[in-house]
Amino acid sequence: MSKQYESLADLKRSVYLWVIPCILIALILNTIIQNVDASDKLSFIINNTMTIWFAVSWVLVYKKRFVRFSELSNLALVSIYHVTTFFDTIYNYMLKIDGSLGDFIVWMPIIIMFIFLTLGIRRGLYYSIGIFLITLLGGVVVINKLSAESIDSLMQFYFANVVYIIVLFYAQHMFRAYAKMELFKKHAYLDSLTGIANRHQIDEWLEQKLSDSREMHMRFSIIFFDIDYFKKVNDLFGHKIGDYVLVELAELIQENLSPRDLLGRWGGEEFIVISDVLGHNAVALADYLREKVEEHEFQGVGRLTASFGVAESELEDNIDSLLNRADEGLYQSKNTGKNKVSICNYV
Ligand code: GH3
Ligand code: MG
Ligand code: MG
Repeated sequence: MSKQYESLADLKRSVYLWVIPCILIALILNTIIQNVDASDKLSFIINNTMTIWFAVSWVLVYKKRFVRFSELSNLALVSIYHVTTFFDTIYNYMLKIDGSLGDFIVWMPIIIMFIFLTLGIRRGLYYSIGIFLITLLGGVVVINKLSAESIDSLMQFYFANVVYIIVLFYAQHMFRAYAKMELFKKHAYLDSLTGIANRHQIDEWLEQKLSDSREMHMRFSIIFFDIDYFKKVNDLFGHKIGDYVLVELAELIQENLSPRDLLGRWGGEEFIVISDVLGHNAVALADYLREKVEEHEFQGVGRLTASFGVAESELEDNIDSLLNRADEGLYQSKNTGKNKVSICNYV
């Protein structure tokens, strides 16, 4: 769960690292093009404070220092900028000279995005509604003194504002639901003890492999294996140590497979490898894994062995027929002294 949060924090961090420079460029352009100088005191102070503070906060976010503080102070600044610029435009421009809100509307989605990103869904919603109500109040009290063009621009601003709040609110919900679903899906396919694929995932892999092999006339092998005398491990050392053996074995096998091979826990102390190697190469791979198990010192238990069954897929196979042959191979290994590899092919 903490890893999940870390990745969400990382995601937020990259958004800030990209968005802040864009805002900085817009602020600098605004200062240069609109020639904001010391005579327009309020704009001058706000523009320069924001430019300096955004530059500082970019460095802080980049260095991962005081990230929460940077986020909140940026949000405070952006909010103050949003509200003061809105009032400045209405009272010093629209009321006196007439006209529309201009580039103000263009930046609004970014401000609402900033609010949701920093405060989350619920608090973000309340905060953005609060800011909206302040601007609504500011506009409504002077609305009868404005020209038709100004009123139209103001209305567009209010409606767009409501739409952005609704869209970003639901976008956050959708994002969360999607992330949750992905996490759920991931866990549904993993064995909770060993962390490798579970039976559900193995079934899907086999289904896919069999359909690919029918389409492309390509075969694959499965290697089924089961720890020898595992009941004794539980009896002698306890179930907890037994569990740890399973985890250690999964790690050991995974380390000795190529990235193209697939490993899963079929159930209990039975595992399965799906590999594209065929014939004697598949038997050699199984024997290599058998040796690795035999040579390994399991913590608190010592040496153990495992028995293996190998089967190669045929075009007419389904999951059951293929698994039955691998199981038959495993049965032969168990019945002829264990710690062995047996192949059982189609007859
Ligand atoms: P064989 O050599 O013929 O394979 O015999 P075995 O002693 O390994 O016995 P068998 O395969 O028939 O039974 C497997 C045992 O594995 C039974 C069960 O107690 C144990 N087992 C199954 N799942 C788990 C598990 O998740 N954790 C632990 N600790 N033991 C398990
Ligand atoms: Mg066993
Ligand atoms: Mg067994």
